[in-house]
Amino acid sequence: MSRAYIGMGSNVGERLENLQAAVMTLSAALPDIVLIARSGVYGSEPVGMTDQPDFLNAVVAIETTLDPYELLSFLHEIEIARGRQRITRWGPRTLDLDILLFADVAQDGPDLTLPHPRLTERRFVLEPLLEIAPEAKLPDGTPLRSVLDALGDEQATWRTDDL
Ligand code: AMP
Repeated sequence: MSRAYIGMGSNVGERLENLQAAVMTLSAALPDIVLIARSGVYGSEPVGMTDQPDFLNAVVAIETTLDPYELLSFLHEIEIARGRQRITRWGPRTLDLDILLFADVAQDGPDLTLPHPRLTERRFVLEPLLEIAPEAKLPDGTPLRSVLDALGDEQATWRTDDL
């Protein structure tokens, strides 16, 4: 089994329900996936295209027998089942699921980059990740706590709810 962390975001429709549906689907995917922990729900202002609703974000920890590509395609299925419509790259989305970390895998490929390329820039990902994994590190050993501490405070992120 490999430990992986999945980032979830939604800013369209019933945002909390979208996140909860993703967690339920992941926790029903036994024996391929075992849900280990879930963060609280964090609100954040959109990055990039700012003329859209606020996001809700959360992170879950899983153990999985899947390889990273199998996990990515399963996450795509969950996104599609939840009616994700991707109109513009940085625009509104019903449900966005990203592999943040997959064991100690470090790779840069056309379909899958690990760790997630924007993990270290995003307070709304690092805060929920560190809530459930305070000791989490990048594959090179850098503690994510120190990455978060070094981020500026211009990205407003607030904990709103339990998941
Ligand atoms: P986006 O909708 O902007 O999150 O981009 C989704 C696409 O990014 C997917 O189709 C993946 O092929 C690609 N991708 C690359 N690295 C990752 C990752 N670590 N997690 C999820 N998607 C990834």
